[in-house]
Amino acid sequence: MIKQISGFQPTGNLHLGNLLGAIRPLVEAQATADSIAMIVDLHALTMEHDPAAVRANTLEVATLLLAAGVDPRRTAIIANSQVPEHTELHYLLECTTGFGEAARMIQFKEKSAGGGPVRLSLLTYPVLMAADILVHGADHVPVGEDQSQHLELARTIAIRFNARYGETFTVPEGIRPESAARIMDLSDPTRKMSKSAPSAAGRIGLLDPPETIRRAISRAVTDTAGVVRHDPEHQPGVTNLLEILVACTGEKPGGFSSYGALKREVADVVVALLEPIRARYRELDPGYVRETLAEGRTRVRPAALATVRRARAAIGLCL
Ligand code: AMP
Repeated sequence: MIKQISGFQPTGNLHLGNLLGAIRPLVEAQATADSIAMIVDLHALTMEHDPAAVRANTLEVATLLLAAGVDPRRTAIIANSQVPEHTELHYLLECTTGFGEAARMIQFKEKSAGGGPVRLSLLTYPVLMAADILVHGADHVPVGEDQSQHLELARTIAIRFNARYGETFTVPEGIRPESAARIMDLSDPTRKMSKSAPSAAGRIGLLDPPETIRRAISRAVTDTAGVVRHDPEHQPGVTNLLEILVACTGEKPGGFSSYGALKREVADVVVALLEPIRARYRELDPGYVRETLAEGRTRVRPAALATVRRARAAIGLCL
């Protein structure tokens, strides 16, 4: 069976883009792949952070994954900090990676460009991400464009390690699941909907109440063409609304006489999609969520340990 790993940052504000671009494809893959849903709380420590918020967000993301249909009997839900083999392998992979390779990562350049203090872990976290993937022997990693350079580094490190020290790692492949939609910001449809956008106005949070969702959609930026058409170049706002509709319903949308009619329909389907998730989220007991993370960790550890042992032996350490 194909092994697949999907990563989620433990930041609050999980949004419709995360659901339609990552969580739903993960739920669909449960039938055919052996999946791990990994919350990368260690990555959250690479930038200025609030300890209580990281812990709370880790549990919030785990709860949302469960509420959105990730079945913990099929998909191990883990936090990367809770599986110590990730950090052990990270060090071994740092010894297989050049400083220049890490320093040329676009995200490092962008995030370190502000002139403030830069944590060393911001430089090395793509190597941790390689460890996150390689330690589980993942064949497939669904990635958006922003992570494709990091995935390429993980592949380079795996290929190099295997060539130098003998076949140790599965070389992962980045995939873009067919059902993964790309949702744009409602107030600036040329940008991806994002947790870190300066304004929340263009984002639909997975836990937003219906009235907030309806208001956000009614204020979505459109254009002055006055015709509902799928035209990403000239009508990115309208196109985004049509794509949200298709992603939510799985059907080709009908004709709309006005932008208002389109927005009302989009608001109805988004509310209908998110309401049950919000209801399940509220029902889930925090104790159960913690148990799920503990079970996930127990499930993945034997294979992770076996990978680390192979890597230790190959690189020249005593077992
Ligand atoms: P993040 O936690 O922000 O790294 O995102 C988690 C997952 O959601 C990744 O697989 C992203 O590619 C995906 N994702 C984030 N924003 C969007 C978006 N606006 N549309 C589609 N997928 C997205």
